[in-house]
Amino acid sequence: MKILISADLEGVSGIVHPSETNPGGYDYERSRALMTAEVNAAVAGVLEAVPGAEVLVADAHGPFRNLLPEELDRRARLVRGKPRPLGMLAGLDDDTDAVLFVGYHARSGAGPAVLAHTISDAVLDVRLDGRPVGEIGLNAALAGFHGAPVVLISGDDVACAELLELVPGAATVAVKQALGQAAAIALHPDEARERLHRIAAKAIRRHDQVPLLIMPGPLKVEVDLYGPYTVDVATLIPGVSRAPGGRTVTFTAEDVAQAYRLVQLLTQLAQIKPN
Ligand SMILES: [Zn+2]
Repeated sequence: MKILISADLEGVSGIVHPSETNPGGYDYERSRALMTAEVNAAVAGVLEAVPGAEVLVADAHGPFRNLLPEELDRRARLVRGKPRPLGMLAGLDDDTDAVLFVGYHARSGAGPAVLAHTISDAVLDVRLDGRPVGEIGLNAALAGFHGAPVVLISGDDVACAELLELVPGAATVAVKQALGQAAAIALHPDEARERLHRIAAKAIRRHDQVPLLIMPGPLKVEVDLYGPYTVDVATLIPGVSRAPGGRTVTFTAEDVAQAYRLVQLLTQLAQIKPN
């Protein structure tokens, strides 16, 4: 059995503020340890359910270099660094049996939800065939494209609800209750880890009962970008055109995998400044 754990940081218990999630920020180093411990709890749950399973952990926050390699459960392998075609799900392939989202957050515009955003602040919204999707939707659809169900999510209550709307039957571990973009009522980290361990084991045992999220292509993709200059740069890509409104670019993707790659690239383009 092959399992992928995709680990983000904003949805880890106790974390509420950008300074805790941005490298160099106040308490960022503490956040890395909290993140690694929550991932280890999920790894332990998976391996309790299926001893000997192959477990990959994709570091999926910011620079994709947050998890502390030496602190990670040695039975798992770590996917680290960027860019990579499968982004937050790197390590996924057609043999993957199930995917778990640990430390995930709600999409841009949802909420109130802790640190809600979609990929980066450069992106205001992403729509697939008119339906707004955040990282949860994009990644669940990419997992579904490769035949893997998302069997568990941990994060705040809003992130959990966001996955359930797309994947009824997935297990949820709400480690905090959102009070706003930068405020929450959180479980003690030990309590969060205990629940993750227990519920991950349960989710893996019933992984074949969780439906795949299938978004068939071709897909109309619309991306609202924060920066007008980023819109200008994005429309240099063949197939990407300007949509009405000044902030939106659109393209047709033959499938979710192609949509995912191009959305990642659009996000990276925001780093290009006028020269
Ligand atoms: Zn993140």
